[in-house]
Amino acid sequence: MSNTDQRKPSGQSTGSSTMGREGSDSTKTFRCADTGNNNCKWETSGGSDGEIMQKVEQHARESHNMPKLDDQTRSKVQNAIRERPAA
Ligand SMILES: [Zn+2]
Repeated sequence: MSNTDQRKPSGQSTGSSTMGREGSDSTKTFRCADTGNNNCKWETSGGSDGEIMQKVEQHARESHNMPKLDDQTRSKVQNAIRERPAA
């Protein structure tokens, strides 16, 4: 009597993990002159509208004696923000 007990290891996992990361590397730029301040050469860039808006607020406060941007100016700024594709 022979008892052959053969067990095959099953369950081979051939998993391929592909890490595809899509990063948006676009840069947004803004020029103060585009909002009507033709004699102002200030410009800035950032990764998002919010980032630029913060810098604009600071610039407006320091250079244009505008402690706070009103809604009209804010929308002007947002319309003037341009997207520049990363080189
Ligand atoms: Zn300015």
